[in-house]
Amino acid sequence: MTNPPKAVIAIHGGAGTISRSSQGSAMQEAAYHQALNGILLAGQQLLSEGGSALDAVSLAVDLLEECPRFNAGYGAVFTHEATHELDAAIMDGATLRAGAVACVSRIRRPLRAARAVMERSEHVLLVGTGAEAFAEDCGLEMVDPTFFSTEVRRAQLAHALQADRMMMDHDGASLTFRTKDLMPAPLDESRKLGTVGAVALDVHGNLAAATSTGGMTNKRCGRVGDTPLIGAGTYADNRTAAISCTGTGEMFIRGVVAYDICARMAYGGQSLDVAAQEVVMKSLAAIGGRGGLIALDALGRSSCPFNTEGMYRGHARVGEVVHTAIFLED
Ligand code: ASP
Repeated sequence: MTNPPKAVIAIHGGAGTISRSSQGSAMQEAAYHQALNGILLAGQQLLSEGGSALDAVSLAVDLLEECPRFNAGYGAVFTHEATHELDAAIMDGATLRAGAVACVSRIRRPLRAARAVMERSEHVLLVGTGAEAFAEDCGLEMVDPTFFSTEVRRAQLAHALQADRMMMDHDGASLTFRTKDLMPAPLDESRKLGTVGAVALDVHGNLAAATSTGGMTNKRCGRVGDTPLIGAGTYADNRTAAISCTGTGEMFIRGVVAYDICARMAYGGQSLDVAAQEVVMKSLAAIGGRGGLIALDALGRSSCPFNTEGMYRGHARVGEVVHTAIFLED
């Protein structure tokens, strides 16, 4: 009889441009490591008690959404109209069930709404006010849209409006929002791809993936990125892999990135790492896509390629030490 798989969880908090030399970033770097570490420990604990991959990714993304360092839930970026529009998705690799919400601004924890769509509706994707009404009917916590606003994100919007472009969250050469009270983050905040995500394999051999985001600073209202689109930013299938992406959403949609990796494994016999590396470094880069992803296969092997200077990430195997990283060399 073969041993049961060793349960494992991996998470990300977005990718972007390095600013390691910036004054104060060592402290900020430590704070990011600490935030990732705490969330991984919670996921590891759940998995060690026999919890499901679905519950592990839900818990991790819940915690990431509530952490203002990351562009999801509280601390989400602003649209061009200085509003917030959040996207989230979840997928169960055992059944291929999936749920997602897009362009919501009143649901405190968008990932919980995505899971409710999967488990309590006949649909896969609900958007805008319809998604909000559904979440309210399900008894989820609703908030005023200003709940998500932070000073850092408002300054990022001012910067993006001035530059007249859409910006990714951890990604910005000029950091106008760096006040003396706001020390620079390791990855430049206005050019960071700050989506959050989690993938997990449980002791029963099931995979799951979840992703949540505020999108991109200065995006047009009504814009939907890759995060809530099953196969683009989020995908899980027990036969291949669980994947959660972060990056320039439009290119991830055009490349159907998450599904492309699974398809390469299923039809081309590629390993997870070969498939993930080729997609991120070649196919995605070829169309100007920037960002990265975290992935796990059914045996718990992980891959986390990114074509930016850094990506907040980490993984925790049951019974092993938690590992967190920001830069390539970490
Ligand atoms: N992929 C997200 C989007 O395009 C952005 C991000 O990853 O930061 O909405």
